[in-house]
Order: sequence, then C-alpha cells, then structure tokens
Amino acid sequence: MLATKLKNNEQPIKTTCPYCGVGCGIEVSGGQDNYNVRGDPRHPANFGKLCIKGKNIAQTLSNDNRLELPTINGQPQAWTRTLDYIASKLNKTIEQHGKDAVAFYVSGQLLTEDYYVANKLMKGFIGSGNIDTNSRLCMSSAVVAHKRAFGEDIVAPSYSDITKADLIVITGSNLAWCHPIIYQRIREEKQRRPQLKVVVIDPRVTASTELADLHLPIKAGGDLILFNGLLNYLAQQKLVDLMVDGISAAVASANQDSKKLAEIGLSSELITQFYQLFATSDKVVTLFSQGINQSQQGADQGSAIINCHLASGKIGRVGCGPFSITGQPNAMGGREVGALANTLASHIEFDDLAMHQPLADFWQTTNLATEPGLKAVELFDAINEGKIKAIWIIATNPLVSMPDNQKIKQALQKCPLVIVSDCVASNDTIEFADIVLPAQGWGEKSGSVTNSERRISRQRSFLTPFGQAKPDWWIISEVAKRMGFAKQFSYQSARDIFAEHARLSGLNNHGTRAFDISAFGDLTLEQYQHWIPVQWPQPSGVPITVSDQSLFGDNNYYHPNNRPQMFAVTSIDRVVAKGSFILNTGRNRDQWHTQTRTGKSALLTNHLPEPELAIHPMDASKLSLSDQTLVSVHNHYGSMLVRIKVTNAQRFGELFMPIHWSFANSNQGCVSQLTAPTVDRDSGQPAFKHNRVNLTPWQANSNALLVVNHKLALDLCRYQVEQVIDGGYCYYLASNEQPARLFERLKSLALAPEHSTVFDASDPKKQYYRNSYFSGDQARAAVLVASSKADLPDGWVSQFYQGQGNKQQAISNNSTALKQQKTFCQCLNIPYSEITEAVAQGKLSLDQIREKTGAGNGCGSCIGDISLALSANQ
Ligand code: SF4
Repeated sequence: MLATKLKNNEQPIKTTCPYCGVGCGIEVSGGQDNYNVRGDPRHPANFGKLCIKGKNIAQTLSNDNRLELPTINGQPQAWTRTLDYIASKLNKTIEQHGKDAVAFYVSGQLLTEDYYVANKLMKGFIGSGNIDTNSRLCMSSAVVAHKRAFGEDIVAPSYSDITKADLIVITGSNLAWCHPIIYQRIREEKQRRPQLKVVVIDPRVTASTELADLHLPIKAGGDLILFNGLLNYLAQQKLVDLMVDGISAAVASANQDSKKLAEIGLSSELITQFYQLFATSDKVVTLFSQGINQSQQGADQGSAIINCHLASGKIGRVGCGPFSITGQPNAMGGREVGALANTLASHIEFDDLAMHQPLADFWQTTNLATEPGLKAVELFDAINEGKIKAIWIIATNPLVSMPDNQKIKQALQKCPLVIVSDCVASNDTIEFADIVLPAQGWGEKSGSVTNSERRISRQRSFLTPFGQAKPDWWIISEVAKRMGFAKQFSYQSARDIFAEHARLSGLNNHGTRAFDISAFGDLTLEQYQHWIPVQWPQPSGVPITVSDQSLFGDNNYYHPNNRPQMFAVTSIDRVVAKGSFILNTGRNRDQWHTQTRTGKSALLTNHLPEPELAIHPMDASKLSLSDQTLVSVHNHYGSMLVRIKVTNAQRFGELFMPIHWSFANSNQGCVSQLTAPTVDRDSGQPAFKHNRVNLTPWQANSNALLVVNHKLALDLCRYQVEQVIDGGYCYYLASNEQPARLFERLKSLALAPEHSTVFDASDPKKQYYRNSYFSGDQARAAVLVASSKADLPDGWVSQFYQGQGNKQQAISNNSTALKQQKTFCQCLNIPYSEITEAVAQGKLSLDQIREKTGAGNGCGSCIGDISLALSANQ
C-alpha cells in the first residue's frame, strides 16, 4: 500500500505530469491505493485533458523495484555514511586527477531545483564544465538553432499560438503519440475551423497524418533540403524581408540546396503545394521535434526552419513561429539552469566573460568553470579513455538511451567510481553502479518544471517517500556540504533553491537575457506553495504576467544588436555507414522512455506489448519475411532479434523501431545496440534517426505465450519479452525447439496450483498447444505454443487475470476471435473487434467510426490508431 499525504475530503493536490514536454496539469485526490487523477481544468497547457499516459499515472505508483536505503557495492548503508563516502571519493578523485576527472550525467526528469544544485556544484565548486544531461539526446540541436537566430535559447510562441495559426506544419514529430494533448488541441481547432490547414512532414504514415491536409512522406534526412527549398521559393516569390541580418548568405545556400529537391523522395507537385501553402498563409506555426533534432545536421535543420519564419515575417506575431516541442517534462528547466555542458548557468554562456566574476560572486566561489565541459557522447568516450574517473548518473538510464550502448557499457565497467541516483532499484545502468542512491519519485518530490512553452509549473508531493528515498536536490546538496561547501549549499527546502535560481536569472540582466524570473527572487514558502503556472520572462520590478506571453512581438532579440540573425545552412553529404536499410527510432503511444514507470501499468503495456520493427511490404517480400516473424537486425555495433510489422506506413528502404525495451524486460535488449554514436557537429546530439542496419531472417520453430502470476528470468528461450499484466506477467517467446517440446518445458513453469482445473485446447495436428489453468472461475496460468506467432491470441492473454479469461475462451482454439477481444479504446473498454468490423465496412470515416463505436471519445489517444487502421485497410 502507498502511504499518502492526502487526507479525505481534502482539496485535490495540483501537480504536473512527469512524462512529455507538454507539461499537463494534474489534480490528484483520494489516496490509499485509490487515487483519482484528472486533468487540471485551469492549467493552460491542457485545460483538464490528459492523454492515456497521464490519465493512468496512478497505475505506475507502486513501490515495486524501489530501493529503501543507499547501497555501496550492493550493501545497504545509512545515508550519513554513504554521503561521507561519496564526498570523500569525489574529493580524492579531484585531488589525484584534477577537476575534469569528475562528471555528472543528469536528466530532463529532474526538477529545476535538482538541476540547479547539480549545475552549481559542478560548474561553481568542482570547477569543471562536465555536467551534461540526457536532454542532449532530445533537443540540443534546437538549442543551437535558437541561439544562432535569436541570440539566446528561446522558444518564442505559446501553445495558444498553435491554435490561432492558419497553417500548422508538423515536422519530425508523431505528435499524436509523443505530445498527444497538443495534437488534440489542434484536432479540436481543425474541427471548429476547417479552413485551418495542417501539413505533416514525416517519412512514415503515423497516427498524426490523419489530420494532414497534406502529408509529405519525405526520405529520412531530407528536411534541410526541403526547408532550404522553401526559403529559396519565398525569395523567388519576393516574399522575404531583405533587411533581416544574414538573409543574403542564407538565401544563397538555400538556392544551392534547392537543386537537390529531387533527391528527397517527394514529387514536385507535393513540394509546390507545401511551399504555396506556407507562402500564402498569413499565420504559420512550424512544430518540430526529434525527427529534426536527432540528425547529423539537426542544428542546421532547425536553422533552416527558423530562417523561413524570419525571412517571411512569420514570427513575433499571434499564431506564428517556429516551435520546438521538447521531449521531456523538464528539458526546458535544465536549459534554464545551464545544465548542458556548453552553457555556464541561467542562460549565461561561457563566452560571456564579463559575467564570470559576477556569477562567481553570486555563488560565493573562487573555482568557477570557465570552459565548456564534455557533451554526452564525448563524456562517455572520456570515461572509456580513462580521463574521467568518477561519474554520477542522476535519474537517467544511459545504457539504454545512449547510442552504441556497448561502448557505454565498457565505459561504466572501466570507470573507477559509478554513482547512480534513481527512483528504481534496478535497471540496465544500475547494474554497473558502485553506489546506488534511492531518490524520490514523482508523487513524492516537490519542485518546479518548465514545459515546451516556457511555462513554469509546480510538481507537488502527495505520497510519503518510500523507505529512505530523498529529493535529488537534498542528496546533491548534502554531498556538496561534505565536499567543503556547506555555506553555499545549506538549503532548507526546494523553495530556497528556486528563489536563488530566480535571483540569479536577474543578475546583471537589464533585459539582456530573456530568461529572467527575478520577480520570484524573494518569494515566500507560502507563495511557492500556491504557485500558479506562468511563462517566463518575469523580471523584477514589473507586475507578474499571468496571461500567455509570446516573445519577439516587440522585435527585440538577444544578439548584441537586438536583431535576429539568419544562419546560412547547406546540406552535406552524410557519412553513410554500411547497411541496406535506414533505421529510425522513436516512441510508442503508451510508453515512456525505458518503461521503468509506464511498464508497471498493465493498461499501458497492452497497446504494443512487444517491440516491433516496421518494414515496407516490398522490403519484407524481398527478404521473404512475413508479418510477425522474427528477424535479426544487425550492423557494426550489435545485433538483436525483433518481430517485424509489415506495413505500408513505412517507406521503402526505411525501418522504424521503438526505444522502450531494454535488458530489464527483453533478453534482446535495447535498440541502442544498433545506433551509431554519430553526432551533430555543433550540438553534439546523436543522429538516432539515421542508422544503417542489415536484416537476416530468423526462423523460429515455435512461438509461445506464457502467462504466470510470478516474474521469471529472461532466459527461457532464444527470444523473450516480458509484459506486466494485471495480476502477473505475460512472456512472449520464440525458440528453435519444436512446439510440442517447448510446450512440455513451459508447462512446468506455469506452477498452477495443485487443485486447478486444466483446460487443454491443444490441436497437435496444427502444431498448436494450449493449457489454461483455473481455480474455480479464477484464471491462474496459461501456456500457449504454436509454430506461428499469428496463431497466438496476445490480446486475450494480456487481459487474462482481469475476469475476462473465462472457460469458454480457455477451451476455444479460435485465435482470431480471441485476438479481437483485445481492448482498443482503453478508456471506454471497446474491443478491437468493433473497430475491425467498422473499418471493414470500407465506407465509414474516422469520425463516423468514433460515433458508431465510441472509441476515441475518452482521452482521445486512440483516435490516431483508428486512422492507422483505416489506412491499412485501403
Ligand atoms: Fe502527460 Fe504529455 Fe500526456 Fe500531457 S500529453 S498527460 S504531459 S504524457
């Protein structure tokens, strides 16, 4: 049972969703394992709506896989001893090897207060720039593009601008899955105002393309040429402002690149339609995300987009602007405090030499870092090279998320001191930790986060911390005190840190940095507790702005001359590694990152329980691969088995695979085994969207599902993936063994109670074996083996313990019928069968299917899935 701070009949606690960068407000009420979670109707990011992840967050709060106490070399220790030990080890490392021998690798999951003290300790007191964040992997390219154009890392528009646009361009983002509430706001606006045009630029058909008036299925990596082509078009049509700084060089580069437009896989008609729409629409918002950022030229792609807006004046006005949507809940907060290795602090850059002494004085230090540190990929390289001797990893799982994860593994094995702070007891990275620190999780900790539109919201605790879990800011501050900096890290609460962070933002600012929240420099604990979400800037000396505030309306930018700057960019020939296919990676609808939280919810794991490699039918046919068979994906970096999904949604020659699996839930590990450490030269962001791989079919003689109420080791078969289901686990297995033999072996693992009734629905002639175990009407376990995966009813199994696994199902061998019972719309409990039937009629539109079946009328997350089902039926 979870210990709650909520009292009966108390007002709900207002907090913020811990997943994506939309930053939805949440209200939590109830308690004692019965939490009522709903969207905060007054939060400007979501106005009461939540997507399926946010809505089901209470299912992820269990204390499974939590650590009660710190551990040193696997042994539980008291906090005091552990903190003393860490401080002494870090000090010794610095003494023996220098300040740059120590590094922090932190996370967009941290609260701003945690981030602030981590950055202050490293850059202010250890004196090194070696703190980088996993936000490096998600939006550092956008940061570079912003700084080039605006003189500072600024996302200018607000969410309200998106719905006021005449044209919304969505590029490099499956918004419907990755930022669902923004997508739903657009969807509603388009229904209200059908003349609103939406262009989706994506190599794949995704859940987001259903909304598109125009879908540009661009070749992977073609965005820079496409947007340079747009700038060239605008210049030729004389629709550009020739007074914008840098426009001549930018247009000249764009003109060169536009000669390559035939190479990006789009017809000239489609390209022209897009260009005409952009040119003739008065108000345009371009939303961009990882598909733009995670590229070898991610920063240049961001610049190409921004150039089009600057040149055409579609910026600084209502309903206009380039809009980088951040992936993580507090990626923006990390950027504010300066926790990227190449920023000093609080939007103060390392090359702003005049600010070094004032900052040192503000922090009361004589050891301020003056040079940028190592960016994420370089940082782990430096560990491998023996230059970094101690790393503190906080709230992130780099062994799963970093490219070329074998190299990360080697680095962690080699590093003399690996400290990990996390709210889980085990994950792929923790396996290599010398010291593990139990940090508080969402629901337990308090602080602030900033979403994609610069809106600062509070996260408020409503759970009593598990065991001796502590806030990250407290852990870092306690280590800092023991390292000799007690005076500068003597915070009593998150509020103290936030107020200091706010005061720092105003240091010698005088309007030179947009990031200024000095109005809150002296806020009281009570004011902090009653915080309402506001956007920055909020400088001192003027009234707090509560309404939306988009930037650049006053034409004031943050270069020394206060003008915007276009930055000339040209596509370069990519370094093409060997491999027949381009592998793109990304997110599924219902999972978050490495599943350490969302993987606990049976409802969320139900959507796509196994990782699938999407492949175009012609590619599959060339390799004689049929849907749901297994394939070995391999390249220079590694190899893994994965199930394929044959789909027209994928471009020919390109593949897509989700990022959510790891050795914690699959014996095939994570897709990072296959991602190259190629990075953008300016941002250091890895090019996750452009990996090269080869495929080799792997013939399984048997496929199986094993449903049990206890966790099993991941060593049962050559291929094994674990799914948490209500009341137990489902294992997806594939083996070289013959089905009958595998069936015999798995039966012994079901461990059904002695008195259970066994329903045997085996049909050996069809190589199909099934035992279901019941005690009375209660399902206990099931073993299902077939030669083909297509004969296994995965949908039914995931609901096995939920009272839906009745005896008729147990004895039926009609797998197709069982599969159709899988829930499609989780909110309203509508099965696949209803959607399949409606789609098969061939004449119903998406909205008619919603009306007929009710699907998509709850949180709305499955609306895009209905459109995918419709497009698959065409
Ligand atoms: Fe959470 Fe993002 Fe969903 Fe909002 S859209 S509920 S922030 S995951």
